[in-house]
Amino acid sequence: MDVYGLVGNPVGHSVSPPMHQAAYEECGIDASYVAFEPAVEEIEAAIRGADSLGIAGLNVTIPFKQDVLAVVDPDPLAERIGAVNTIDFRADGPPKGYNTDAVGVTRSFAHHHVAVDGESAVVVGAGGAGRAAAFALADAGATVHIANRTAERAVSLADDVAGAGSVGVGSVGTSSSGTGSTEAEDASEGSVEDHAATKVTGGGLDTLESALPSASLVVNATSVGMESDETPIPGELLHSDLAVLDAVYAPLETRLLREAKVAGATTIDGAWMLLFQGVEAFERWTGEPAPVDVMNQALRGAL
Ligand code: NAP
Repeated sequence: MDVYGLVGNPVGHSVSPPMHQAAYEECGIDASYVAFEPAVEEIEAAIRGADSLGIAGLNVTIPFKQDVLAVVDPDPLAERIGAVNTIDFRADGPPKGYNTDAVGVTRSFAHHHVAVDGESAVVVGAGGAGRAAAFALADAGATVHIANRTAERAVSLADDVAGAGSVGVGSVGTSSSGTGSTEAEDASEGSVEDHAATKVTGGGLDTLESALPSASLVVNATSVGMESDETPIPGELLHSDLAVLDAVYAPLETRLLREAKVAGATTIDGAWMLLFQGVEAFERWTGEPAPVDVMNQALRGAL
């Protein structure tokens, strides 16, 4: 039997075990998926131990996504993002590290038939999820504006994405594609730094007002709306040409998505991103197409 799992602290709330277990059962794979909660200072030892014990693969969640970079060989995308959420132990040499949160964003849009290539995207947030979303969307060909409460963090992320160029958000399964050529409105009014060459900009939340009218994609990558009825985007800025992905998945229908629906926008809840990061991990580990519908049902049943 192959053993897969999740390392995080805490992991008690995780829906990854039922999602992956359902996939193994559906595909007749003799495997088990276990949640591990190492002490924060033990994470490097835990990863080395997992390798020694013959564990096949691990997902990595808060607070370890950056820490594990010290003990894995990250692929170029994970290295640029600066975070790993999926480890594959089966290759020769050091364990391979991937960031499937990034692919989770583009596959969520692709699943909903939303084009990314050539489109204009606004990422709200510049933490872990924001980094993954910004790299993913820029690499998939979108113009990206990052708006964050701490403006300097958005500008710095825009810098990182612009400096990285295209690092390849390679999906082992479906990938996002599409057509269209919406140039992002130049949102710079003093407080915005423009990376014209790669079309990545960053600024404070006040830049949403100038960036959103010409945008067609929005990702909420802040924790605003998590277990609360708050939204990071004023409802009056939402419009019917938008596809809005909220990374927050508790509740599934956030205030942002509710208001986006009222504005006539396409809405994509956070469970889709969670699903597709898991789908991507499953496909990397097993080399088989994931049973997406079965995983989706298991995930939503467990949320
Ligand atoms: P993080 O690294 O801690 O980043 C948090 C982000 O939220 C930062 O940009 C922060 O802005 C912003 N923020 C926090 N409180 C805010 C407020 N009151 N007003 C405005 N902005 C605020 O967290 P993360 O790992 O990126 O996660 C962000 C959210 O995405 C969480 O809800 C998480 O559950 C979700 N997520 C979902 C998935 C999925 O698969 N669906 C995957 C990863 C994460 P500052 O920089 O100014 O502090």
